[in-house]
Amino acid sequence: MTKAVFKTYAPGQLQLLPPSWDEKIGKAHPVRIVNSVIDKLDLSDLYESYEGGGTSAYHPKMLLKGIIFGYINNIYSSRRIEEAIKSNIHFIWLCADNEPDHNTINRFRGKKVAPVLKGIFKQIVLLLAEEGLVSLKDQYVDGTKMEASANRYTFVWGNAIKTNKEKMGKQLDELWQYAQTVATEEMKDTSAIDFKIIDAEKVNQTVSAIEEAIKDKPIPAKIRQKLDYAKKNYPKKLDEYKIKEQILNGRNSYSKTDTDATFMRMKEDHMKNGQLKPAYNLQVSTNNQVITNYDIYPNPTDTLTLPSHIDSFCALYGQAPETITADSGYGSEQNYEYLEEKKITAYVKYSYFHQEQRGIREKKYPFAQEHLYYNPEKDCYTCPMGQQMKNIGSYTKKNANGFEQTLTKYQAQNCNDCPLRNACHKSSENRIIEVNHRLNRHKQIARANLTSEEGIMHRKQRPQDIEATFGNIKQNKGFRRFMTRGKKKVATEFGLIAIAHNLKKKASGKGTSSYLNPINRLYTPYIIRHILDLFNKITVK
Ligand code: SF4
Repeated sequence: MTKAVFKTYAPGQLQLLPPSWDEKIGKAHPVRIVNSVIDKLDLSDLYESYEGGGTSAYHPKMLLKGIIFGYINNIYSSRRIEEAIKSNIHFIWLCADNEPDHNTINRFRGKKVAPVLKGIFKQIVLLLAEEGLVSLKDQYVDGTKMEASANRYTFVWGNAIKTNKEKMGKQLDELWQYAQTVATEEMKDTSAIDFKIIDAEKVNQTVSAIEEAIKDKPIPAKIRQKLDYAKKNYPKKLDEYKIKEQILNGRNSYSKTDTDATFMRMKEDHMKNGQLKPAYNLQVSTNNQVITNYDIYPNPTDTLTLPSHIDSFCALYGQAPETITADSGYGSEQNYEYLEEKKITAYVKYSYFHQEQRGIREKKYPFAQEHLYYNPEKDCYTCPMGQQMKNIGSYTKKNANGFEQTLTKYQAQNCNDCPLRNACHKSSENRIIEVNHRLNRHKQIARANLTSEEGIMHRKQRPQDIEATFGNIKQNKGFRRFMTRGKKKVATEFGLIAIAHNLKKKASGKGTSSYLNPINRLYTPYIIRHILDLFNKITVK
């Protein structure tokens, strides 16, 4: 039987010269991309945040590289980044054998990087744009809801506060009415109080006035109890509601453990019970699957976020995109108006665009306003029976952003005895339609854009661009929930994810296969390899 021969295994073997980490790193490994890209950045803003004095600090460039490479490898926690920096050869090479601990990493990420991160992100996008990997001209915009790192069951609801305040107002009003009936003489000089808007001061004044008026009257115990309860609890509660309303700042909810997070309905509903979860609405622009801009919003709907998201793009790059492609969630009058003002071509769908294109809507709602003929010269519509529907006036309304919309009303002359009456409308009067002419004009332009050759190309590209980016972040990178709390920290967290995503995209174009060149793959004593390495460096220079 032939004797088995094993390769030498001597873990404790000392080496004549220390090994070079560099030769262990693949020539096209993503770690080299991170290293070379970060080396090209102007990090002066980051360096300026260091005050000086005291002991020497870890080099910010090293920490930035380590954190970004951690995010590329789906390592997001500071403890796990610390572990990787100490044990993973790619991190060791990248951080040049420095070993910052998790506290240093966390402090650097939260205090030093956070204020300058958007600038670093911008520089990386511009570098990728120079290389032709991304264009700032055509932007694909969409939003996704990302769960916050907050307790799902400690919530504050704006509607509950409103209802409770209404109940308190009603109760005070009842007590006030009662006092007026039993102490008419004492209260004859008091003026009427509006209990629809109440605060702690108004409650105190009201209760004092009632107590003064009924002090000598025989009062039922129940009334006395209600008055005492209002005196003791209402001012405290109202002060608490005031603080909560300030935190809500127009929202309908927030989580007590992350007050910037709003409760939203999520697509990921594993319990299938429609449970609302504390989350942030993440708005992202992409081109060629490279993230070019990101913003965090507290409102669950995408419609109201577009203007400020495009404004932040313009502020970041000093230029507006030439085209915007987005789904029907963004097809509002305000957004169309904004994009027209900015001279951005909008490939933005409106509600029912697809139904309209397939002719479903016309079949389903043949009498709908959009299918009636409009005569712009006479400013009138023609109803399905051929009657003229005349302009009977206009009115304006404002949306949640304060944007003003004008609606014009047109009414049919006589709907009595019309054979189409039941199919045409349900009103007991002659049919009235409300028309938003400005929105109709924008829809007409959007329809022409979306059905043009260019529009079809952008519509095909949109899901492959922005939706694939969300898919990559949520599925491949496993990033489905923020780890930090508060809008600012969450923005930093996503900024790092966006940078990691973009650098991974750049790295994927290069491939990662060329691990060690052929000469290095041969077994050579370390001393020979070091000489070869030195020789390579000299000849390359
Ligand atoms: S119901 Fe009135 S609006 Fe409708 S088709 Fe008849 S006349 Fe015209």
